[in-house]
This record gives sequence, structure tokens and C-alpha cells, in this order.
Amino acid sequence: MNILIASSEAVPFAKTGGLADVAGSLYKEFRYMGHNVYLVLPLYRRIKENFSLKESEIEISIPVGEKDFNGRLFSYNDNYLFIECDELFDRDELYGTPQGDYEDNSVRFIFFSRCILEICKKLNFKPDIIHCNDWQTGLVPLYLTILYKNDYFFKDTATIFTIHNIGYQGLFPASDISRIGIGWEYFNPEGIEFYGKINFLKAGIISADIINTVSKTYAEEILNEESGFGLDGILRKRKERIFGIINGIDYNEWNPAKDNFLPAKYSYKDIRGKSVCKKELIKKVFSSNVQDSEKKPLLGIVGRLSAQKGIDLVIKAAPKMLSSGARLVILGKGDEYIHRELEEMQKKFSEKVSLILGFDDQLAHNIYAGVDFFLMPSKYEPCGLGQMIAMRYGTVPIARATGGLIDTIDDYEPLICSGTGFLFNDYSHYAFLNAIKTAFCIYEDSRKMKNLISNVMKMDFSWKNSAEKYIDMYKYALKIKKN
Ligand code: ADP
Repeated sequence: MNILIASSEAVPFAKTGGLADVAGSLYKEFRYMGHNVYLVLPLYRRIKENFSLKESEIEISIPVGEKDFNGRLFSYNDNYLFIECDELFDRDELYGTPQGDYEDNSVRFIFFSRCILEICKKLNFKPDIIHCNDWQTGLVPLYLTILYKNDYFFKDTATIFTIHNIGYQGLFPASDISRIGIGWEYFNPEGIEFYGKINFLKAGIISADIINTVSKTYAEEILNEESGFGLDGILRKRKERIFGIINGIDYNEWNPAKDNFLPAKYSYKDIRGKSVCKKELIKKVFSSNVQDSEKKPLLGIVGRLSAQKGIDLVIKAAPKMLSSGARLVILGKGDEYIHRELEEMQKKFSEKVSLILGFDDQLAHNIYAGVDFFLMPSKYEPCGLGQMIAMRYGTVPIARATGGLIDTIDDYEPLICSGTGFLFNDYSHYAFLNAIKTAFCIYEDSRKMKNLISNVMKMDFSWKNSAEKYIDMYKYALKIKKN
């Protein structure tokens, strides 16, 4: 199958969150399965600095409103494609700074979306499937139904639009319609209008052949007013076109038996290395190394610091959570106000909380391996990768029962000692603390804890199953397209 994955981030090139893992892993799996696949990304500064890319002769000029933007195609290992336009992408960050989004994000991703279609033509690559991801590429399916509607080149191309997080929709002023290059007739509630603004995510939802999201539960949740962020109505109209496929994790990148970032390697057959990782992590991130502290539970968080992640519950739960000698390591980057709140908490519990504000892949590996419990008290969680990575490293998740967390964590049942984590329902720090309490009780019973670690490590979160489901979905999209 000819597949083009269009994404605004992908490992190993540029990452702010799970989308990068998913796009990068799917590309690798499809290649492995023998498909003819390209992955296309904007050429951000960090990619230029860290990879030696091959420059091509292919140039693309796209009008965005009054102005023409010029891009050039670069590649890496032939099938990773990058669109260079320094004016738009040669920046420190992908989408904005902690102070806010880049003001020209609409221009940046209008340009990128048009380029995706133009490079297919320039490369003479006729995709069976264009797989778009999140609002940044939401315009691609729309363009195919409007500007490229009668373009013979794309007549057999089907589009998939994956919603990785419906909370991020790409909202821009109505006047940007001229930049998009389509008429005002598309600016209405059935089209891309969203309460007076343009909504790029909605563009993908209304025009893709198939919409999917990253877990079965989340695919159901977004159909409800509570979790649909205003798009539940339009999604319900396309209900029969919506699928949910759980993400996997890259088993080569995330493997405690082969992870060179770790001070000691281990597997479920011999988990001794995990306690070495814990000891070393404590030494690394805590200035005061209280004796025997490695005997107490060590909790960890690695993630984007946004309201979605339930950091407010962590802050409220902290006094009780840390009262018994437990410690907490947080690695994250995100909204400035959350940075400040966490700094306050860290000051209050300076001996017990280690806070690292930033993005650090190596430290993330060491936290997944070194902590006993991984906290994900998310308000909502489309899929969540953190809990799966944690389990791969024998770290037990304590998480809110929402979205993909429900689909990947089996709530621990103390009476029969079965389960793979601790779930709670209500979005309250009391409920969160109850789950933590149960977890700490199990921690005290070393036999049960060992058993639990071994159970979580045996879970299979590899991409193989999900990648096959994606291919089935692609085939279905092609069938729909033909009829
Ligand atoms: P989301 O996509 O909502 O950000 P996920 O749990 O799906 O959350 O994926 C987060 C991914 O990003 C995981 O691979 C996690 O390890 C990684 N990550 C998030 N924040 C950081 C950080 N500050 N440093 C290193 N890795 C991070």
C-alpha cells in the first residue's frame, strides 16, 4: 500500500508529546510490514541542527493570503520528508512558547498542509492513504474535497484523520478563510466554522474518509458533550466513520533490558536492576540523600504540563501523599502557570519533591525505570503513553479511569491480587489519595509488589497489533472511497 503519514511531529526528529511517538512508530511498523510509506514533517530548527538531511531540487510555492511562501523538500533515509521554509519553521519551538502559541500558526500549517499535497505530485507518489494527524494537518482532507476535488492525481486517494487530543483544535479568526484559499461558503456550522472562528480540527473531521482516535474508550467519550469540546455534535453525525485504535509504544526505544540510558538493565525475569535505577535516580535528582529513602515509595510524573494532566490533583494531594516518606520526581514542560504552581509545591516539600522543568528524553527513561509508581491523574486522556512505558519498565501506574487509561490498565483487585495498576474515578484529590493509599499498602507487601511488577512487565503494548488494525482501517477507507 502507498501510505503518506502527515504529522507536525514525529520521533526521532521533533517531539512535544505522544503524537510524535505514534507517527514515528507507525511509520516504522508500516515499513517493516513492507508498505511503501513516507512520513512528512515541517523542517524545524532542531531537525536541521541534529540530522544531516539530503536537499532535493524540489521547490514549492504556496500562496497563503496575499503572500507567496516558498518551500524546499529535504529528505532523510529517502522516505522521511521535510518541508523547509525558514520563515515559518526555523524556530526554537514547534508551536509556541510557554507564554503562548506562535501568532502565525495558521499560516504555518496552511502552508504545510498545501505542501503535503503538492509534494506528492512533484514526487509522482500517488498515495492510497494520506494519514493526517491532529489540527495541524486537518486542512489536508478538506483541500482534497475542495481545491483538489477534480484532480485526477488524487482520485483514488483516501484520507484518515486521527484525533490525538480533541482539546487542541487549531482555532483561528474567521478572516483567515482567505489565507486558507477557500470560499466563505465553507464558513458555516456544517463547515469549518466553530462559534465564529475557523476550526482546523473540524476541517479534518468533516472531510476525512475515516476519523479515528487513539483508544476505543476515547472514541466513545468524544461523542458526548462532556468530552467532545464542542465537536461532539458533528462527530455524532459521522459516528459510523469513527474508529478507536489503541496506540502502542516502540519496543526498541522503550526496553529496560537494552536501555543504554539506564545505570542497570533488567527484565521481568530478573528485576534486580530496577532497584539500582531507583537508587541512582534518587542520587541524581534529590540534593539531600536521606538514608534508606530508597525503601520508601518513589513516585514519578513525566509529561506535558497542561491542565488536562491533572497536576492540580497532585498539588492538592501532595501533603498527605508525601507524609509517609514517599518522594516525587516530576519532569515536565508546559503552561507557565503550572510551572509556577509546581515550583511553589517544590519549595514547600523541598526534601521530597524533585522538579525538573524541561524536556529531557534521557531523564525520562531514568524516571520510568527508577520510580515505583507513575502518576497520571488526567482529567481526560485520549490514550496516554506514559502508563504503558511505565509498565514496560515495571513501574505501576496510579491513574484516573478515563479514555485510554481505562483500556490499558486493569484496576488492581487486592483480594485476588490481580491487576496492573490503581485506578480512581472521581476527579478529586480524595479519590486520587485513596488509590495512592491502596498502592502504598501493596508496596509494603514485598511479595505482592514483586508479583505486580512482574505482571505489568508482561503486558504487551507493542505496535504490532495496532499497526495491523490501522492497515485494516486503511483498507476499509479505500473501499468506502471506491463506492
Ligand atoms: P501527550 O501526548 O498528551 O503529551 P502521552 O502520554 O500520550 O501524552 O505522551 C507523552 C510522551 O511524551 C511520552 O513518550 C513521554 O515520555 C514524553 N514526554 C512528555 N513530556 C516529556 C518531558 N518533559 N521530557 C521527556 N519526555 C516527555
